[in-house]
Amino acid sequence: QFDVVIVGAGHGGAQVAVMLRTQKFSGSIAIIGEEPELPYERPPLSKEYFAGEKEFERIQLRPAKYWGEREVTMLLGKRVVSVDPIAHTVTTDSGETVGYGKLVWATGGHPRMLPIPGGDLPGVQGVRTRADADAMKAASETAKQIVVIGGGYIGLEAAAVLTKAGKKVVLLEALDRVLARVAGADLSRFYEKEHREHGVDLRLGVCVDAIEGEDHVTGVRLSDGEVIQADLVIVGIGIVPAVEPLIAAGADCANGVRVDPLCKTSLPDIYAIGDCASHVNDFAEGAEIRLESVQNANDQANVVAKGIVGDEAPYHAIPWFWSNQYDLKLQTAGLSTGHDQAVLRGDPANRSFSVVYLKAGSVIAIDCVNATKDYVQGRMIVTAGLRATAEQLADTETPLKALLP
Ligand code: FAD
Repeated sequence: QFDVVIVGAGHGGAQVAVMLRTQKFSGSIAIIGEEPELPYERPPLSKEYFAGEKEFERIQLRPAKYWGEREVTMLLGKRVVSVDPIAHTVTTDSGETVGYGKLVWATGGHPRMLPIPGGDLPGVQGVRTRADADAMKAASETAKQIVVIGGGYIGLEAAAVLTKAGKKVVLLEALDRVLARVAGADLSRFYEKEHREHGVDLRLGVCVDAIEGEDHVTGVRLSDGEVIQADLVIVGIGIVPAVEPLIAAGADCANGVRVDPLCKTSLPDIYAIGDCASHVNDFAEGAEIRLESVQNANDQANVVAKGIVGDEAPYHAIPWFWSNQYDLKLQTAGLSTGHDQAVLRGDPANRSFSVVYLKAGSVIAIDCVNATKDYVQGRMIVTAGLRATAEQLADTETPLKALLP
């Protein structure tokens, strides 16, 4: 029996424990995690860790001794398979039952795999955990040609690392541009050009029919019949929120588990945060969304920890994100979905520029490529919902913050 049980030893779960102790919470805390590792940073799995530039020790969220000193019990290598909201207990795959006062569900999601023939063949690799990254790294060393399926951030980052390492990479995207779900067309075109110039065989609007191979992948068959040879297929097509035990327990679920502004689920004393939590976001015009970012996991964790110590305040945090590809550092603030105008600030040809997104004349988001000053000031204008003209926003001589009233 623990006062607080956190399910999921990832970004959100770790931060709940850190914040509880920062808030002088003196009750007992346990974190139950499916992976064998202590909490670590996930973003480097498709960046510095995958590239071999950072050792695993350097991506741990806290040194091992931190958890002992703060009296956070780590129950690792255990998957929670059921929740009893009446008895206030969870049960793990090894049959262990753990009681809780408050339960925090911070399980993220599983990589969405391809629902096509051969989609689960050895050599077809999703990217979510250290084990995935290690498998991908090992397989890529001997691979002659690698196919990446999905032109989202993870697919593009993996393609950049592999290309830099001298590998032949074919990247397949079903839509007519990369990053279509998260960015405007200017940014998509810029990244498509960059990847092609670095040697990626980038194909848009292609449909994958099957993965070929007997006991290991040998190729990817497209809907037009072409078979692209591959000895490693990396799949980056999103995640499925890991909420099955909560659904079974009767929690209100949509795309993920639904939470209120205090991150409470519909079940008593159960919170949910991070990638698996479907919430109404102030920066999405009140739409119900899931955000897959370290920012969201950490900020929702803070809302929960403070709520548990009696300092309740609704979630209201500006979304931000980053992505590293080649020598390009992308930083984004706000959510551009639903924008009706995109203003280019600077020249993409210089490989340093920003795109400011507006809706009905107000700034709702900014994407900055190698433009940290714009990003820092961009957060201010997004938070303020600045009303500005395209001419003002495009004028690189004027710092963005000078446009604030
Ligand atoms: P996670 O960090 O995924 O933690 C969930 C944990 O719960 C996992 O360890 C999982 O194994 C465990 N778990 C699941 N089910 C159970 C269960 N039933 N019982 C016990 N344990 C369970 N975000 C950014 O902001 N910037 C980036 O550049 C970026 N790059 C990324 C690159 C990659 C390759 C990946 C995979 C993600 C990236 N993200 C990035 C997203 C970011 O990592 C996630 O948004 C963040 O990790 C979400 O935190 P979380 O706590 O919700 O889930």
